[in-house]
Amino acid sequence: MELAEYHALQKLPSPWGTVYRKPGAAGLEEPYRLLANAVSGNVARALDLNAGVGLISLALKNLGADVLAVEERRASCRALQATAAGQGSIDVDCTLPWELSQTDFDIVALVLGAERGNDWVREQLAAAAYTLADGGTLWLAGSRKAGFERYLGWAREMLGSGEVVARNKDMRVAALQKRKVATKPAPLVNTIEAELRGKLLRFYTFPGVFSANEIDPASELLLEHLPKEVAGKEILDLGAGYGALSLPLALEGANTTLLEQSLTAVESARISFSRANATAEILYSDVDESLQEDKLFDIVISNPPFHVGGHVVLDVAEAFVAAAHSRLRPGGRFYLVANPFLKYDRWLQQRFGNVRELYSGRYRVLLSVKR
Ligand code: SAH
Repeated sequence: MELAEYHALQKLPSPWGTVYRKPGAAGLEEPYRLLANAVSGNVARALDLNAGVGLISLALKNLGADVLAVEERRASCRALQATAAGQGSIDVDCTLPWELSQTDFDIVALVLGAERGNDWVREQLAAAAYTLADGGTLWLAGSRKAGFERYLGWAREMLGSGEVVARNKDMRVAALQKRKVATKPAPLVNTIEAELRGKLLRFYTFPGVFSANEIDPASELLLEHLPKEVAGKEILDLGAGYGALSLPLALEGANTTLLEQSLTAVESARISFSRANATAEILYSDVDESLQEDKLFDIVISNPPFHVGGHVVLDVAEAFVAAAHSRLRPGGRFYLVANPFLKYDRWLQQRFGNVRELYSGRYRVLLSVKR
């Protein structure tokens, strides 16, 4: 896939209007469809709390609501902005659930982000409880295979009572009435201590980031296979998370640029760098869309994602390979780590004309050089 193709938005008709989608964006998975179909009532103000590309927002608008659509993942939020454009009554905010200041919504619609862990779900539910008006309804969607029953229990504890109102195979939608008082959520920041490249480092993570409680073993392995001398090098970290790869390199004197599409990860990286007295360019970006057009690097590193919205999707990893190639100077090197079941060699060979395996075991470390 070419980068232009990756970044292009596509139109998709839905019963509630045109939805825009793009590679790397979540929001058309089954729980979104089930909730969009189930939601009902006479609504003045609605919050779509994990909006994806905006399917549920359109359904809420069709109920007559003014909608606030919130989405923290950059790829989804870009498509969501296109879905909302021209719809008048849908406002979009690419922000985090715990940053919301508007309250008193009649309806909050929430597709649980269970694939991102319990702490993330807890914050999503806390934000729903806080932003709902007393007596308002939470419409909650998720999969039984991903803990829906347990999360419904949490929602009842935080908000009030409610039942399952729609189902399709493992998918469930419940509607709950808010009967309890809720305070503004304040997410716990987790601390990770780890020895990386011979230095004891500390990272700070907000809920919902990749590998929130320990450094990913694949990332550790990649760090061991990078050049010993990186001082003065310009390094691009694609899908940087909270900075597990970049921070050790920055502390060794590299000029690092981090690109990351998840805002909770971006905020985590910002704290981790500032508390380590390290500097970097940390950009909220869908692949390289936020990077200056002519910016080039000596080294690109990545532990690429292979899930979107809980499903295996390789569009983003393929776009990372394309971006790495276009962002390297001649002679520049792209280091990538992956699970052995992911066959990235073919893409690397096609783009770069060469690929070398530096390590093979539980993970593989691959290197391609830009000619
Ligand atoms: N480098 C980090 C994170 C690796 S996981 C580490 O080693 O710990 C892959 C990361 O890619 C995740 O943080 C995920 O949010 C990010 N990501 C997913 N899709 C992306 C996209 N379209 N653009 C940029 N980053 C993306």
